[in-house]
Amino acid sequence: MISFGTTLKDLIESYNIEILEELIDRITISQNSSDLRIMPDGTFEYKGVKVLYYIAKAFYTKKIGDAPSSLNKVHLVWCRTLEEQKARGTFAQYSVTNRKNGTYHYEFNDGVVEHQKLLVCQNCLQQFYHDRHKPIDYEEFFNKD
Ligand SMILES: [Zn+2]
Repeated sequence: MISFGTTLKDLIESYNIEILEELIDRITISQNSSDLRIMPDGTFEYKGVKVLYYIAKAFYTKKIGDAPSSLNKVHLVWCRTLEEQKARGTFAQYSVTNRKNGTYHYEFNDGVVEHQKLLVCQNCLQQFYHDRHKPIDYEEFFNKD
C-alpha cells in the first residue's frame, strides 16, 4: 500500500522501477514551446529530459567548411549568446538533443545531412563550469542532478 508523503523517488526505489532514458536525436522546437523548460541551474529540459540546445543548420555547404570551429555551437545552458540573440531578435530555429558523443544531427546548405561534430559554446562552459576551455564530459553533464 502506498502511504501519503511517499516521494516519487522512494516509490521508484521501493518498486525497483527502471527508468529508461529516452534518446532525443533531434527535435526542432518552436520558440514558445511549453515543452522546453529552463531549469534553475540554466540547463534545458524537454518534456522532463535534460537536453542540449542548438541550431541544426549550417550557412555553408559541407565542402566549404565542416570544421567544428566554424559551425554552430551546442548550448548547455541559457547563456549570454542566447540572451543576445533573443534581444536582437535573430533567434533562428533551435533544436534539442541529448546525444552524448559530441556529434549532432546537422544540415549543411547543400542538403548534406549527417551527424556532425559540434563544439560546446564557450559562454556556456564559462557559465556552468567557470572554465571556458573545460573539456566537456557528457555523461557527467547529463547525470548531474
Ligand atoms: Zn551557450
